[in-house]
Amino acid sequence: SAIASILRDAGFGVLLAGADHDSACRAAERIGRELEQPLDLDGNRVDRQAAIGIAMAPLHADAAEPLLARAELALYAAKDRRESFIVYDAAFDRESEANLALLSELRHARDNGELRLHLQPKVDLKSGSIAGAEALLRWVHPQRGLIPPGRFIPYAEDTPIIKDLTLWVFEAAVREQPSLRAHGIGRVSINLSARDLMDLDLPAKLDALLRKHGAEASGLCLETTESAVMGDIARAQQTLTRLRERGYKLSIDDFGEGQTSMRYLKDLPVHELKVDMVFIKGMQTDPRTEYIVKALIEVGHQYGLSVVAEGVENAAVALRLAELGCNEGQGWHFGKPMPADELYGWARAWTAREEQGQPA
Ligand code: C2E
Ligand code: MG
Ligand code: MG
Repeated sequence: SAIASILRDAGFGVLLAGADHDSACRAAERIGRELEQPLDLDGNRVDRQAAIGIAMAPLHADAAEPLLARAELALYAAKDRRESFIVYDAAFDRESEANLALLSELRHARDNGELRLHLQPKVDLKSGSIAGAEALLRWVHPQRGLIPPGRFIPYAEDTPIIKDLTLWVFEAAVREQPSLRAHGIGRVSINLSARDLMDLDLPAKLDALLRKHGAEASGLCLETTESAVMGDIARAQQTLTRLRERGYKLSIDDFGEGQTSMRYLKDLPVHELKVDMVFIKGMQTDPRTEYIVKALIEVGHQYGLSVVAEGVENAAVALRLAELGCNEGQGWHFGKPMPADELYGWARAWTAREEQGQPA
């Protein structure tokens, strides 16, 4: 895992003297291809990903430092878009300034009371009863209004700020737990990011919050994504094992989105697998996508995991998933993410409907 950590962060620069736009792109393509050759470490195959940013002198900058800075911006853009290389564009500067400004405001969002906890119901597909809820963060910016997590979480994840956000959401969810239980919602899921998983102190930090609120780990599920785990499998496993020992339920979110995960799944101490939304959405239009969903459900069950489908948007999909043996569903068909008070109203209505024998 030491080697994996080093590789995860390795970066270097290449100077192509006399190259033009096209030859620089060709060189980037070649270097990228070389770097993406899997490594063999003591018989373990390690997959690698490379991202390359290109900046040209004197077109983009004529001194070394700004040139490197712009190559780095292009590199981030390549990482973001999962492209193997990207040539710098002036728009990256403006975008990065906007992101930096947002990030610096996010630092104060918690203390300014701008964060909100939203909860989205999860439903048992067989019985139709409420299986739990997922905590999803919302940021109400004083000028810009509601900012969706997709707009700020990925940037926060590049900084230690994400760890504060996780603890905020965790505490907000724990505080809400007694009311959730009273409304028949027995478990809350909370998202962890890669940095949380790499933080060996995370379990102790969560312990402190549980103690503060007299809460128990057993009513909580911690979700992590396969990409967060893949960053450093050994370390992620260590944190996950510690969390499992404490009684948390553990879940792999957005499963299927990467390709490396299948072979590690059996070694991860998790209880639940959440099938990525793309597959659930794709099921409706493409029968071949349904085969993938079916296979993922089967693999999950083989490993003794409960399988959850995300992005269930209509009754037909919910029904089909139930037929395929998928355990739980989450999506707009059941309910959108909403503040706790609204969720309680939703839960009352849902339970009443269920008692009248209406299908999920
Ligand atoms: P996620 O954890 O996979 O959460 C599910 C996302 O799918 C949520 O987006 C939810 O609103 C959306 N969704 C649920 N059902 C449907 C549906 O039927 N159709 C469609 N189109 N979308 C649906 P949201 O709330 O915007 O969150 C996006 C992502 O941001 C989350 O994906 C998660 O990765 C991240 N995120 C949100 N809150 C937190 C948090 O507290 N901590 C961390 N680390 N990440 C968070
Ligand atoms: Mg999630
Ligand atoms: Mg997900």
